[in-house]
Amino acid sequence: MGMDSLIAVKRVEDIPAEYRNTPISLLLEYHNLDLKFDNYSKAQLLIGMCMDNRKHLHMPDNFAYIIRTGGANMRYSEFRVSYAIAVGGVKAVALIGHNNCGMVNLMSKRTQFIQGLVENAGWTPDEAEEHFYHYEPIHEIGNEVNFISSEVKRLRLRYPKVQMAPLMYNVEDNLLYLVPE
Ligand SMILES: [Zn+2]
Repeated sequence: MGMDSLIAVKRVEDIPAEYRNTPISLLLEYHNLDLKFDNYSKAQLLIGMCMDNRKHLHMPDNFAYIIRTGGANMRYSEFRVSYAIAVGGVKAVALIGHNNCGMVNLMSKRTQFIQGLVENAGWTPDEAEEHFYHYEPIHEIGNEVNFISSEVKRLRLRYPKVQMAPLMYNVEDNLLYLVPE
């Protein structure tokens, strides 16, 4: 699935009914539609998103927990997801992928990754190579949009009472889009 299959949010009416009056809708309205910020004393939402430097969310202070990983991959952050739900009390999760993600086709960056660790971090070539081959398979996400869809499906099974929304951030217009379901 590509970015052209996503649902744009340009007006409140574009937000699907199941998200109305939920923190998911508020996130979309704050970020895309410039909704005036409310004051929050506790988090309403958990956001899972990529560590990539090109993204900044427009939303109020205290509104959301954020877990940032490579590719918005939550498979190795489960304790942190559980914490936000159990202790932080959030009842909704927005999982936000983005186009042009570095966690796609990691094999193509193998040489740069290994040389970079040697030159920038002081690792030996053997250490760097072993590190790459050990961790590449669990960090590669394949297609960005498909990954977010499947990751949301997995999280819904794991946390059945929590609302989960698959979203994408377009690094060209800095807007959030809905992944069709
Ligand atoms: Zn990314």
